[in-house]
Amino acid sequence: MKQRIIGIMGALPEEINGVVNLLQNKEEHRIGKRIYYTGTINNQSVIVVYSRIGKVAAAATVSTLILKFNITELIFTGVAGGIASDLKIGDIVLGTELVQHDMDASPLFPEFEIPLIGKSHFKSDKDLLQLGENSIQQILENSYLHQVIEEKYLDQFNIHHPKLHLGLIASGDQFFKNSTQKNKLLTVLPATKCVEMEGAAVAQICYEFDIPFIIIRTISDEADQHSTIDFMKFTEKISNIYSIEIIKNIIK
Ligand code: SAH
Repeated sequence: MKQRIIGIMGALPEEINGVVNLLQNKEEHRIGKRIYYTGTINNQSVIVVYSRIGKVAAAATVSTLILKFNITELIFTGVAGGIASDLKIGDIVLGTELVQHDMDASPLFPEFEIPLIGKSHFKSDKDLLQLGENSIQQILENSYLHQVIEEKYLDQFNIHHPKLHLGLIASGDQFFKNSTQKNKLLTVLPATKCVEMEGAAVAQICYEFDIPFIIIRTISDEADQHSTIDFMKFTEKISNIYSIEIIKNIIK
């Protein structure tokens, strides 16, 4: 049987630092201005990296993980802006499908379709989704959450009974910071749960190389005029902790 090698990616250092600290036998590899951390978590080989923001950075990074580090599966963990009205800051979205909301080669190809691939929506792996769902449900239990995140930070961001949502994630090279952008997206892709800047690029490359993947996103803002929350504090105190606990639960 092929040895499992799990790639773990985030966009920003703050999104993966906690996971890097979980690594045993840690080594650093510098390729193309990125640092790939190899090591093990519970005896499982993993490679952890942050790509920086945007689809190009994410696509280049995941390609390197596949071609140089021979990963057999990929887990992306990070933050996103909530689009669906029932999402709250501190909720988690597990992407069942990913779409690039800024791809438009019409009229040559239908809007959102990746030219010459003939697809607009990329599906996450069923088994990884199931595993992710179980792991996330567990950490969102009140008793678990209060053990790992200090009450004052949960209060600061008004996180009370965070929920897991499964559905469509839309990605593009745009930070959503007003309701006009948000409403426009909802008209063209009404099923969208949340918006971010890397997931669908990762999904496309994983699809091309046949690598199973999941994209996990903590809602950091509501993709509107308030989206520039205390971003660094949120990633450090909330989403970074979520990522650590989710990865520990997934890689047991
Ligand atoms: N304010 C941050 C910038 C974060 S950019 C800073 O000062 O560094 C946003 C990053 O988080 C991207 O990697 C993207 O994937 C995700 N994200 C979070 N909220 C988003 C939003 N409202 N629109 C688009 N991407 C968002």
